[in-house]
Amino acid sequence: MKETKKEMIRLEPVFKEMVWGGNKMRDYFGYEIPGDDTGEAWVVSAHPQGDCLVSEGRFAGKTLSWLWENHRELFGNVDGEEFPLLVKFIDAKEDLSIQVHPDDAYAKTHENGARGKTECWYILDCEEGADIIVGHRAKTKEEMKQLMDENRWDDFLMVRPIHSGDFFQIPSGTVHAIRKGTLLIEIQQNSAITYRMYDYGRMPGGKPRELHQKQAMDVVRCPYEEAAGEKAVSHEAGYDKTFLVSCDFYTVEKYDIQGTLELEQEWPFLIVNVIGGEGTIDGCQVKKGNCLILPAGYGDARLEGKMSIVMSHI
Ligand code: ZN
Repeated sequence: MKETKKEMIRLEPVFKEMVWGGNKMRDYFGYEIPGDDTGEAWVVSAHPQGDCLVSEGRFAGKTLSWLWENHRELFGNVDGEEFPLLVKFIDAKEDLSIQVHPDDAYAKTHENGARGKTECWYILDCEEGADIIVGHRAKTKEEMKQLMDENRWDDFLMVRPIHSGDFFQIPSGTVHAIRKGTLLIEIQQNSAITYRMYDYGRMPGGKPRELHQKQAMDVVRCPYEEAAGEKAVSHEAGYDKTFLVSCDFYTVEKYDIQGTLELEQEWPFLIVNVIGGEGTIDGCQVKKGNCLILPAGYGDARLEGKMSIVMSHI
């Protein structure tokens, strides 16, 4: 009888250079980034615009989308044309445009059957005085249109100061923007549909980037309702566990390990992002910046060391 060996799926990031990107991921994660305007590292992605390669093991060199197509058993044989989640590290050296994402129903009808996007952010690092935009102040769509038409963005947008360790859930339909001086991890539905509402009048390359205010008006939830913040920490022997969010699309938790964490991988798949420190997972070395998937049937996992990990699953 062939013995099945526990095998984690280690993934290589896909880097994206952006007008607003920086170079923090070079030092912070030790990544070989392509340039000083590297805005995003797509670290767990099967999206056609950035499909991660498996870096070692029997599937080395295959993409995550290929694995999803050809070895669905690794993902608990769950249904779906596409791998459901997308995880990125984002380094904003400049402000990102003010934007909103549609929900599944709107994207299906208006974007060729694509998914909508609910996403969440955990702040890894930020500059003194950094802020972020989540939500808006308009009570009605009429008021929203008026504020937008009159360029009264300060009256319209909710600006929030941020610190490392803050967490934000951004349901589809929420006006949002990451702003300069922020390094974060984003876990989201696997979608790239973004409606840009405002770009601060910038002219990258001499011309403004396209806006999608009509679609944005369609999809923005109005009035804005605060997403329930349910961050809860439990202290265990060897680790602290911080529950961040559970919604229709994903559950996200953070573990700060100082010793040993034993857990059972009981989900269709478990995404593991090491955001600090180093250690081992079942004897395999992992360090800050490493991203991997523990597949279905992995069973008991033993994580040891001094490290912080964000874990997500459907
Ligand atoms: Zn977004």
